[in-house]
Amino acid sequence: MAKRVAVIGAGVSGLASIKSCLEEGLEPTCFERSSDIGGLWRFTEYVEKGRASIYNSVFMNSSKEMSCFSDFPMPDHFPNYLHNTKFLEYLRLYAKRFDLLKYIRFKTAVISVEKTKDHSATGQWKVATQSDDKQESFVFDAVMVCIGHQIEAYIPPAECFPGFEKFKGKYLHSQNYKNPEGFQGKTVVIIGMGNSAADIAVELCRKAKKVVLSSRGGSWVMSRVFDNGYPWDVILHTRFKNLLLNLLPLDIVRWMVEKKMNEWFNHENYGLVPQNRLLLKEPVFNDHLPSHIICGDVTVKPNVKGFTETSALYDDGTVEENVDVVIFATGYSTIFPFLDESVIKVEENRAPLYKHVFPPHLEKPTLAVIGLIQPLGPIMPTSELQARWATRVFKGQSVLPSESTMVADTSKRNEKRVKWFGTSRSQSIQTEFIGYLDELATGVGAKPNLIMLLLKDPKLALTVFFGPCTPFQFRLMGPGKWAGARQAILTQTERILKPTKTRIVANSLGYTMVSLLKILGLLVLLAAIFLSFGRH
Ligand code: FAD
Ligand code: NAP
Repeated sequence: MAKRVAVIGAGVSGLASIKSCLEEGLEPTCFERSSDIGGLWRFTEYVEKGRASIYNSVFMNSSKEMSCFSDFPMPDHFPNYLHNTKFLEYLRLYAKRFDLLKYIRFKTAVISVEKTKDHSATGQWKVATQSDDKQESFVFDAVMVCIGHQIEAYIPPAECFPGFEKFKGKYLHSQNYKNPEGFQGKTVVIIGMGNSAADIAVELCRKAKKVVLSSRGGSWVMSRVFDNGYPWDVILHTRFKNLLLNLLPLDIVRWMVEKKMNEWFNHENYGLVPQNRLLLKEPVFNDHLPSHIICGDVTVKPNVKGFTETSALYDDGTVEENVDVVIFATGYSTIFPFLDESVIKVEENRAPLYKHVFPPHLEKPTLAVIGLIQPLGPIMPTSELQARWATRVFKGQSVLPSESTMVADTSKRNEKRVKWFGTSRSQSIQTEFIGYLDELATGVGAKPNLIMLLLKDPKLALTVFFGPCTPFQFRLMGPGKWAGARQAILTQTERILKPTKTRIVANSLGYTMVSLLKILGLLVLLAAIFLSFGRH
């Protein structure tokens, strides 16, 4: 009999998990507390309890070719960076294509997941749910936790901002920010320098009287439009560059990163430079922020060291008078509201999971967390590979090492994270991209074998190595192989260019050839005239 799997949440990670269960012949039941799919990507005017919330204007900061599922490329006419409504449209297409909706029970929140009495023998879980006034309980062979990590808004504790209790203005967390209505003529201080802070500052500065970004740690700010106008991630996330990243000494990598980041504008001159330039922290992707800073619409200030009734006091001794609103764009806390700490204990905003997926100390590997990760690339293919690996483990096709090996690996991975990304809360689940995908793919048996590819299909092998590491690479071989993967890889550039190359003109090579032919013709004509004169 097929193993029954509870999938909790129907966002990106939940949908990928349902699909992976089906691929492996498992029987999924997905519980989604809200009334629809999409998770964070389904914008609503109001924040819903227990579901991540976005503002109306959110565009993705990872590009479409990199942010799709591995056997379902985005339609070629979709823009490279999608508005949230467009990405939700993609998720709907995906759910329809693979007939996923019938496995989802909407408006059903999971309220507890506990080990069954015979758990140590069976690995089974008792899952309790709540829908309207009805509570139910089910037994599952395995559980996939796909609730995301942007449910619980984090506002720093009172001691971080002495005097804040006296502040008479309004304050909110970025999770509650929806649009710039109501900010007309206001002085707004935004705390934080992540992607939320930058997006909100850029949007608000068109309405508000004054917008100040207060950053303690700074950030590299990158444009979505990268070399030659290609999306940043298709240029940076190639296997070739990843190899260099791993071969070169870290100091050289850091020097190269800093040099590249300062090509667009000098971060020091814009007050944005990271306090610790050595870290490879997640950058901020914002094409407009430097422009608003240079036009004086957004001011960058250091950390707020305290508040009075009406002012914010900065570390550098300057004061912001008459502050109307403070927005805490200070990130999120990782929570598992329905799990006992004996199953997963969050420490320093981090859950110690083997390869970010499995609690190492379980009797049986029957509970997996999918999507609790912040890779340097898109989360969609990352969650998908986690789900593919986890379902293989549930089936016994992929076997986990001993508990001590898993614990040691988890600690080592964390040490590497601290070395690369630092100790900031915002980097607590940060990880590299291609290296991590390959690790998961190895677990699945779907890591592309480049040597084999080079022998069989050199054109494809070169595209896989030098081109962007698109998700289709993980469908070329092994379990879950997709016949369309090769074609999807070889046509990825066409899909990238299709939505922007909407006015075709004779290209420069054509123009040069025509000019050369004209010059050649002219020379032939001149030579003929010259020769005919010579004869006379
Ligand atoms: P979510 O999308 O949060 O979905 C979780 C689902 O679980 C929700 O539907 C929720 O209702 C449900 N749920 C929660 N608790 C329960 C429960 N107890 N019972 C039942 N259901 C439950 N990542 C990228 O790769 N690229 C981007 O461009 C990008 N942009 C982002 C922009 C913003 C503003 C933010 C905040 C994040 C962005 N991210 C981006 C990261 C984001 O986390 C992922 O894109 C993705 O949405 C994560 O999907 P998920 O399914 O893991 O979580
Ligand atoms: P975040 O990345 O966690 O950033 C939180 C910010 O708050 C950091 O700058 C952090 O500074 C600061 N902070 C935290 N505690 C603080 C304190 N006590 N005092 C002062 N500053 C403090 O949160 P986020 O910006 O909401 O982003 C969350 C995730 O969503 C990220 O993965 C992001 O990429 C994604 N996102 C994407 C988009 C998009 O695609 N357009 C938009 C928004 C968010 P330090 O770094 O110094 O700790």
